[in-house]
Amino acid sequence: MSDEPPRQGIGVGVRSLWAWLSRPWRRSLRARLVASFGLVFFLALVLLLARMGQVIYTAQLEEAEHNLEIEAFLAANALEDPLSGYAVEFERHELEENDEGEWERDDPEDEADEEAEWGPRAQGLEGLLRGGRGNPGTRGTMGNGDRPGPARPDGRLQYVAESFAQDLDARVTILDARGHPLADSHYPPHQIPNQFHQTEIQAALRGTEQHDVRRDPLSGEWTIFAAAPIQQGSRILGLVQLSQPLDRVVSHTQQLVSSLLFTGLAALLLMTVLGLWMSRQLVEPVRRLEQAALAMAAGDLEQRVQIDAEDELGALARAFNYMAARLQDTLERQRLFVANASHELRTPLTNIKLRSEALVNESVPDPAMAQRYLAEIDREADRLTRLANTLLDLSRLESTDPPPPSKPVHPVQILRAMVPGMTARAQAKGVAFQATLAEDTPPVQVWPEQLEAIVVNLVDNAIKYTPEGGQVALSTGEADGRCRIQIADTGVGIPPEDLPHIFDRFYRVDKARSRQEAGSGWGSGAGLGLYIAKTLVEQNGGHIRVESTPGQGTTFTVEFPAAEWPPGPGPSSTGPQAGPVRRGGSRR
Ligand code: ADP
Repeated sequence: MSDEPPRQGIGVGVRSLWAWLSRPWRRSLRARLVASFGLVFFLALVLLLARMGQVIYTAQLEEAEHNLEIEAFLAANALEDPLSGYAVEFERHELEENDEGEWERDDPEDEADEEAEWGPRAQGLEGLLRGGRGNPGTRGTMGNGDRPGPARPDGRLQYVAESFAQDLDARVTILDARGHPLADSHYPPHQIPNQFHQTEIQAALRGTEQHDVRRDPLSGEWTIFAAAPIQQGSRILGLVQLSQPLDRVVSHTQQLVSSLLFTGLAALLLMTVLGLWMSRQLVEPVRRLEQAALAMAAGDLEQRVQIDAEDELGALARAFNYMAARLQDTLERQRLFVANASHELRTPLTNIKLRSEALVNESVPDPAMAQRYLAEIDREADRLTRLANTLLDLSRLESTDPPPPSKPVHPVQILRAMVPGMTARAQAKGVAFQATLAEDTPPVQVWPEQLEAIVVNLVDNAIKYTPEGGQVALSTGEADGRCRIQIADTGVGIPPEDLPHIFDRFYRVDKARSRQEAGSGWGSGAGLGLYIAKTLVEQNGGHIRVESTPGQGTTFTVEFPAAEWPPGPGPSSTGPQAGPVRRGGSRR
């Protein structure tokens, strides 16, 4: 228990160190970009260098082996050249040595086998050159001193081995045909074991060239060996064995790889600098977007980002600007909506307040007038209810997604059922109502409740804005393959300057008249009816337009695309009943 706190301390320390180290990574896109690229580059470099090192090493090794084989062949050629006189000299010495009988065999059994196999071909050199074996101290000398005549072959061969070794930059060993070392450029021959069974020696004796890589027992190093036969005609006098430590190949490969590594690291450094610069260019627009978003959040809706790039960041900036514009527009519309709605609510509320105060204070002496006040309060309350309902409809209409397309319906069937109600309302106003519903009117994919709401609103408006004695006509038919519904009146008409705005929210041409006639209209004459009608038409794939001549009358034309008939097993029959707009006829 006593060492618990220190462990916690270390844990917290490691965590905070890690948090500190990883902070740039977590907080900076630039750091992540540069570090990711750097890491990928570094890994690629390491893999590439590993593979290249392997390839270079193999190529170098093959080249070294090949060169060694050629050099062994050339050295053997030089030793067999009759002009050099080695063979003659060796034969003479062979005879002398045989007479003295000094030859000692390393392995009599092997020697016997070799003799049987190579005997006729391998005569000559072994005896002549054995001075190198019997007298190791004579390495590099030209004879044993107490014998007159030509220089002893071991001395001459030792000299040859050493000078070849210098020229060829390799260790040179001269062997007799049975693999006994006679002279060696680096070691006294008696220290060198018999080489007869080595791969390259066997190959040389067969007349082929083959190298071998193995550990040299004398140096303890991995070494490449190659050998070639010293021949005179078909007779093998001996062998030349060349060897080179593998270290040279390895160090050459290491040099090449490290120079490549150095270049790669320099490239990595350059790439990091470039990466920092490029990531800065990349991240800068993101910073500007961030600042604009923060400024917008602080209430500056005018904020826009200026990025001219054609790339994804440019597209992001354009999307941001579009979003900002839409947001600004929506907020502005909402602000207007709230202002208009409160204004519309305030008027009936003020009327109610004035009258109720008068009644409460008993400042209305006349009971008939008091009765009239009460009736007006009741009417204003109704108006408020209608207005509240319309505002609710409107908010539902704007906040919910458009309903899915309905099943095809015949508009004539729906409208025919509405004719009596519309006729009654027109008669109450002293206006003639006429309905011409053509049987060839195409079916449409419009929700029946919404179709009713649209038509009721337009017909009620027509009745509302047509003076007594005027006419209102509802007609349906086919036009250009579409379903057309028209509501025409001979009413007051709409001034040309107001026409572009009448479908706007809360827009009214004549506020006094709108309110006066509010009893039958949608939204209590608040200027919402046409806006809602247009929204419903468009949600059902249709289009609405208006033509009007002040003092003569107005015609509203609604068109919907024709639907296929008979209807297939298409869209559901449950529509927007619970949706934004109730049937027009149900409103007061
Ligand atoms: P309101 O509730 O005021 O009628 P609407 O959105 O239904 O609101 O209509 C907007 C304005 O368009 C009305 O204030 C009115 O001035 C004008 N208007 C609509 N229909 C007609 C019509 N048939 N004849 C003349 N003016 C019309």
